[in-house]
Amino acid sequence: MQLSKIGEFGLIKKLRNLCKSTSKGILLGIGDDTAAIKTSDGITFITSDMLLEGVHFDLSFTTFYQLGHKALAVNISDIFAMGGKPKYFLLNLGIPGTYNSRDIREIYRGAMKIADRFDIAIIGGDTCASGDGFVLSGTLIGDADRIIRRSGAGEGDSIFVTGPLGDSAMGLMLLEGEGAKVKGCHSPITPHTSYLIRRHLMPEPVPLQKTSGITSMIDVSDGLLIDLSHICDESNVGAIIYKDKIPVSREFTNAAKRLGIEPLKFALKGGEDYVLLFTSPSKIKKNAFRIGEIIKKGRFLVDTKGKKRSFKAEGYEHFK
Ligand code: ADP
Ligand code: MG
Repeated sequence: MQLSKIGEFGLIKKLRNLCKSTSKGILLGIGDDTAAIKTSDGITFITSDMLLEGVHFDLSFTTFYQLGHKALAVNISDIFAMGGKPKYFLLNLGIPGTYNSRDIREIYRGAMKIADRFDIAIIGGDTCASGDGFVLSGTLIGDADRIIRRSGAGEGDSIFVTGPLGDSAMGLMLLEGEGAKVKGCHSPITPHTSYLIRRHLMPEPVPLQKTSGITSMIDVSDGLLIDLSHICDESNVGAIIYKDKIPVSREFTNAAKRLGIEPLKFALKGGEDYVLLFTSPSKIKKNAFRIGEIIKKGRFLVDTKGKKRSFKAEGYEHFK
């Protein structure tokens, strides 16, 4: 079967069947933000994420320092999405032979800065010469007392996000516009746009301080509609999202206006915001925005006039 037909998520579903294991130590295998294994002192989370040149980044508008930061940040986000605390990081690099050691030092300066902030130790990795483009692949290990899965959402739960959506996708568009500037399209960098660009190049994951009562959680890496669909699929439930409740930043709104872009499309389908999306029976949560609720079946977007239309899992998916 062509990968373009089944997509990244169809492939992962197949891998889930191929990798079935009966080991008693596995609390959670393929299919969530991290795997979870049982250790003598509790639960250990393990997650891996890759950044590929030409797919995830373009060296004409990102620095090595920013790449080092992002390689760790995207993994931290997955541990936070399980309610865990990140602890140990391994970074694998595939480096084109034309680079010099200063470039790699910058990667580690960026990674160490965010590692220090969260008290994470970089304990290993692997280094190879790459024949085609730069590759960073990180594995992060963390721990927690409990596991917050994608599969625990129940009918009647409220749906929350912890921060604004669409900033990263808008930041990327501005960066690509900047590339186009060379060809005559003018897109000046202002304090507003630099916030958006930073949100794309250097995401800052923030953990939930209190996780009691949270029934399911995921980080928004591929876009709200896709990531919420993962919660719905795994929990076997539906969802309603109120469009006017989706939080967006002032910078995002201004940029969308200036560029004549439909803002909601970016907020619903733009990826890489690395905020947390979670469900809870409680209607109010500190430091989070209530954007909808879990229903028995169906997936709907509701506009300000109360008009309902169903949504599909659209956003960023590899191979599609
Ligand atoms: P996230 O977007 O949160 O990083 P992914 O969509 O990358 O999550 O992965 C979803 C699940 O699929 C995870 O459990 C991950 O470990 C698993 N997975 C992804 N790629 C592979 C692979 N090549 N082999 C085995 N498991 C994989
Ligand atoms: Mg994730």
